[in-house]
Amino acid sequence: MIFKGHIKSSFIDYPNKISTILFSGGCNFRCPYCHNSSIVNNCGENISHDYIFEFLNKRKKMLDAVCISGGEPTLQDGLYEFILKVREMGYLIKLDTNGTNPLILSKLTSEGLLDYVAMDIKAPLKKYKTVTKSDLDYGDIKQSIAIIMNSNIDYEFRTTICKELLKLEDIVDISREIKGSKRYIIQNFKDGETVLAGKNNLTPYNKNALEKVCNTINNYFSEFKMRNF
Ligand code: SF4
Repeated sequence: MIFKGHIKSSFIDYPNKISTILFSGGCNFRCPYCHNSSIVNNCGENISHDYIFEFLNKRKKMLDAVCISGGEPTLQDGLYEFILKVREMGYLIKLDTNGTNPLILSKLTSEGLLDYVAMDIKAPLKKYKTVTKSDLDYGDIKQSIAIIMNSNIDYEFRTTICKELLKLEDIVDISREIKGSKRYIIQNFKDGETVLAGKNNLTPYNKNALEKVCNTINNYFSEFKMRNF
């Protein structure tokens, strides 16, 4: 398992827990709004597993959970073994995924090795390839959504929105496709120097524009939130 980044502690990444975040290198998507360009492109030095396990040993009393983020962690062969090892230490595990590997997701959920899953829903299924700049099989995304919704694991689906990639009707379409799920979060795009599309090329929404949409989809979910507005 190759890690390229580490945030030692976070109070916001795992709901109501203190977590540490590890970023795995590489991704099979190229979402234009992505802020992790160096991680997606697998640049920089690898973080050694010795460092990670020494850190986790030392911080056992201060941390509740380990968030495995990316990049896309499910691309890596050693994910299962890594999770087993961290769980044996007593940590809760949160997995951030783009949902392209339903096989490993199914294995991890059915064996009870995950405590929280956050899956990005990039677009309505029919627009997935355009938004993610990839050649994926959207059947995998559908399958991952079903695995998560049918599991007993706590989870969230989340969508990053900007005007150039998703129209308001797209947000309604996504919501229909994941209707009945536990928690859905719409995150507004935030510009920055490390954005894959380059700074000043994508535009966030303003809250007023979304009001009507939110009134429509609000009750599709047990919990619905908007971030960065
Ligand atoms: S936003 Fe996530 S899925 Fe998209 S390119 Fe970045 S790391 Fe990959």
